[in-house]
Amino acid sequence: MVDVYFIEAAASDEAGSLSHKVEALYDILAIEAQIKQDSFVALKVHFGEKGNTGYIRPEWLSGLAARLTQKTRRAFITDTNTLYVGSRSNASEHLKLAWEHGYSQEALGIPVWIADGMIGRDDDEIKVDLPRIRSAKIASTFLSTDVLLCFSHFTGHVLSGVGAALKNLGMGCASRAGKLEQHSDVHPWVKSKKCTLCSTCFEYCPTGAIVEQDSAAFIQDETCIGCGECLVVCPTGAIGLSWDDDKGRVQEKIAEYAYSVHNLFEGRAGYFNFLVRMTRDCDCMSKDAPSFMEDIGILASRDPVALDKASVDLVNTRAGKDIMQELQPIDWTIQLRHAQEIGLGSMEYGLKDLSPDGRH
Ligand code: SF4
Ligand code: SF4
Repeated sequence: MVDVYFIEAAASDEAGSLSHKVEALYDILAIEAQIKQDSFVALKVHFGEKGNTGYIRPEWLSGLAARLTQKTRRAFITDTNTLYVGSRSNASEHLKLAWEHGYSQEALGIPVWIADGMIGRDDDEIKVDLPRIRSAKIASTFLSTDVLLCFSHFTGHVLSGVGAALKNLGMGCASRAGKLEQHSDVHPWVKSKKCTLCSTCFEYCPTGAIVEQDSAAFIQDETCIGCGECLVVCPTGAIGLSWDDDKGRVQEKIAEYAYSVHNLFEGRAGYFNFLVRMTRDCDCMSKDAPSFMEDIGILASRDPVALDKASVDLVNTRAGKDIMQELQPIDWTIQLRHAQEIGLGSMEYGLKDLSPDGRH
């Protein structure tokens, strides 16, 4: 039975109160003993897409960030670039958006860093030999990181039904090539009518897989390694991606990527889910969406599977039904069951309520 800790909280609470609660959860996970003066400590977050307002506020992490600066000179806040083209698909624009959303060294006392480089190319391949993937392409920063603290905003998700720790870990710590592998089983392709033959993708493609054919760029499947770089460098949006419509398979790949990242840390990772401002879709949506239920609080555990299961259980219990399945008609249990099967964690947990009146 794995311990999952809970504290009641709401986004409308004073920021200092939320920050103290995060620190209390961090303390109970007892990870600080693993941090040395020169340890690289990553606070993995999602800065929120432009126009999104549901993302975890930097003020809620400020107390912990200050604590970490006393312990190590190498703590940092980080996320990876997106697969899709947008304001988080390269480090330059991504850092600007993070700053606009309040994430900065000035605000938190620790640097903000994009974990997979300027265009999502910086990764390392880890051999795992799991049912869906032979190896995982993880943002290289995480392979140089000693301690991982992963902060996830609990939401619904169009592919996985639920977006929480497993999603943040599996998809959120993968490089662009890793994200592409999770999202699609086929290589990108060129929409010839939109191609102006500007040749940008020819220059970026690391394998020379793109050639000219019938007055447009053409991707040769046999040489394409699925890195996804052409997707983000094309100025006309001419490169298409076939999203995998087998959502069970996508969830299983997410779980296997999450396993690959979690195993890098062996007792040096802690996970925190924020059940506040919960929306039907994730923070990649560039809109201000309404919450589907009242705020519940923050949960934390060293086991991301137990944490996500406890989070869904709290939400569904509060709703009196499987509201996650209702919001996104997807079997969200697939990611959890698969994660448990491959040994990432346990769906059996004991909830320890640290709230003053301890109702759960
Ligand atoms: S996905 Fe990568 S390897 Fe494939 S065509 Fe695009 S840039 Fe080249
Ligand atoms: S970058 Fe886009 S527009 Fe330019 S050649 Fe490649 S597919 Fe065509």
